[in-house]
Parts: sequence; C-alpha cells; structure tokens
Amino acid sequence: MPLAAGRPYAAIPGPSVIPDRVLAAMHRAAPNIYAGEAVEMVPAIAADLRTVARGADHVAMYIGNGHAGWEAANTNLFSRGDRALALVTGRFGEGWAASVRALGVEVEAIDFGRRAPVDPARVEDALRADRAGRIRAVLLTHVDTATSVLNDVAAVRAAIDAAGHPALLAVDCIASLGCDRFEMAGWGVDVMVSASQKGLMVPPGMAFVWLSDKAAAATADSGLRTPYWDWRPRIAATEAWMYWFGTAPTHHLYGLRVALDMILREEGLEAVWARHRALAGAVWAAAEAWGRGSAVALNIADPAARSCAVTSLRFAAPDATRLRDWCDREAGLTLGVGLGMADPADPAWHGFLRVGHMGHVNAPMILGALATMEAGMAALGIPHGAGGAAAAAAAVAAAAPGPGAPARAAE
Ligand SMILES: *Cc1c(COP(=O)(O)O)cnc(C)c1O
Repeated sequence: MPLAAGRPYAAIPGPSVIPDRVLAAMHRAAPNIYAGEAVEMVPAIAADLRTVARGADHVAMYIGNGHAGWEAANTNLFSRGDRALALVTGRFGEGWAASVRALGVEVEAIDFGRRAPVDPARVEDALRADRAGRIRAVLLTHVDTATSVLNDVAAVRAAIDAAGHPALLAVDCIASLGCDRFEMAGWGVDVMVSASQKGLMVPPGMAFVWLSDKAAAATADSGLRTPYWDWRPRIAATEAWMYWFGTAPTHHLYGLRVALDMILREEGLEAVWARHRALAGAVWAAAEAWGRGSAVALNIADPAARSCAVTSLRFAAPDATRLRDWCDREAGLTLGVGLGMADPADPAWHGFLRVGHMGHVNAPMILGALATMEAGMAALGIPHGAGGAAAAAAAVAAAAPGPGAPARAAE
C-alpha cells in the first residue's frame, strides 16, 4: 500500500528543501529594476554573503548555477598557458578540473580516490616540484558532494605556505556553505565559489564568487576574462545593472534576502553549523547500525572527513537503487543517486546512494527519512543491522539534551 501521499520530501544533495518563507517572498509582481527596493536591497545582500563566507573582501554575483560559478572563477583566475593544480576527491573535483582544462589551462590533477580526503603532504610535494612557479591556483573542493568527503581547507593552505609557493587557493563550497564550518579569512582562502540552491536554501539560479583583496590584485592581468564573467565591475558596481551585467535575478533576490536573515539573524551561523553537525550525526549513527553484519556502509569511514551536508552510502548492488525506488514510490521520500562511484552502465552503479541533509532540515525530517529508509530495507529484505532509526534518535537526544536529562560524564 503506497504511503506517499502528503508533502513530498526530496532528501537529495541539492537543490535542497526551500523554506516556505523564501518561496512566499519570491511570489510577487515584477519589481522595477532601475530604482527602488529591488535595487536598494543589493548592497546589504552582498554584505551578508561576505559574512556567510566569514571574511571575504569582495563577492561577485552571477545569474547561473554552480557550473557558472566555476567558470566565473576560472576565467578570472587564469590565462591561457597557465597551470592549475586540481585536488580531486570525487566527481565534483573532476568536474571543476575539466571546466578549467576546457579553457586551455593546463591541469595537473592529483586524485585521492573516492573514499579519502586530500593528503596535504602530496599538495606540498607537487608545489615544490613546480620550480618555474607555473601553477597559478590550487583548486580544492571543500565537500565533494559525490563522495561526501570533507576536506581540510586550512591544512591545504598550510601545505601551500610550507612549499613557499605563490599559488592562490580557490575552494568550491557549493555543497558546504551554510552547512559545514568554513572560514574564508581565518583559513587563508583566496577565492571561494558557491551557489544558491544548497545550504543557502534558495532555488537554483544564482552563483557567487568571493575573493580576497590579494586575489583581486593577483589576477589583475588574467587573460581568459570575457565581459560577462569579469568579476571586476561586479565587485565594484556603481550602478544596479553592473552587479549582474544586465537584468537582476529579481525574485531570487527577495528569496535570498529572507534566507540570509534566517541564517545570520534568526538562527545564527554557528547554530546553523551545529544543527547540521547534530543531524549528520544522526545519519551516521543510523548507517553504522545498519552496517553491523551487512554490506551497508558509510562511504567515508573517518568521521573527521565526513561532510555535515550530505552522506554517501554503499550497499550490495542493486540494493541502493531498489531502496531509492521504494522510498520514492511507497513513501514520498526522494534520495540522491550515487554519483561518480561507478559507471551508470555498470551494475555496480546500483550499489550507491546519497542522502542530502543540507539547508532547511530539522530533526523530524532527518529522523523521518532514516526511519523510512529502514522501513524500505525491511520491506525489500535488504540485509542490514538492526536499530538504525533508534540509534539516530539517540544521537538527536544526545545533541539536544533537555532539562532533567541525566548528567553525562564529561568526554
Ligand atoms: C552541486 C555542486 C556543483 C555543481 O553545481 P550545479 O548547480 O549543479 O552546476 C559543483 N560542486 C559541488 C561541490 C556541488 O555540490
């Protein structure tokens, strides 16, 4: 008997759940783009975006998705014949590297596999080997949404500094911004890329590139710029159209205004990160219980290298696809497909899925998704350890102890 009627829930790693208030703010007549509110709201939005990035000197805003954000960064960072050092920990790291290569930039890629974070020692070695100083930028994916690995940005910065190399550090935070802690200034990041539809809780359609003063100066002569992608007029706009090189994404601005207020003023960025950490802990607790005596496994074994925004899970093929199909059809819960873990034509592809837990999600949503997955495994006879949903509930209880909770020994 299908139980899918009711509010559908897409627990995919982007686009994420959109708050009703964000949608409501977008539901309005077209505003004037030459004067008035839709123009006047832009500087404060840009300032809030710099705050969400924790200390960016500038932000350039674009109409586009994450791929557009990559291209914006690429064209401003590089000239033809430059070299990029791409640190690959999954499909998205590969994608960024490919997008730079397609512009005529030489890419040296270091692939760390599908189950491990970047090893900073190898980054330092690669930079030391670049005696001619041709590497213009190191490209790092903070969270690779395909593998759900979380990379240590500060450690990569330290490796660049230890090598004494002038390369800029550019980081893709498309999955992680507003989910996993990120400190642009504190971690010495020069350029950061993100988009509207993941932790920022707004529909797809806006891409952002943050940069430091140092990055702005170091890229003054980059040769791949085109008028549309050039970040210089956008970060120093003196007229409304210059922010966008044309018509503003009017309705997205109203949605983003509300989303940034929710993140920065109502909940607070530290609390947003803590909520993501607690809910991710529930996902990990469930997966660890399911994995006892079965093939179910977290793709990333080391908790310190797991993202709080998305979790990649492994099953015996084809059980991941069977479970996704069941959850979708019977329960109204959409889970993410595995990405970049196997070729889609390979039967092994059906052994991977992803759970998105980014953005506008709370305990009943995540506990509901996990209990639904457990129900699906039971219904389909997919072997799994018992007690996943209960373990997830215990993780939530531990993260949010109420008054009268038994005192726990200090850890
Ligand atoms: C989603 C995502 C992208 C791609 O974004 P699109 O909006 O699909 O173009 C790139 N990098 C990471 C880490 C992502 O999570």
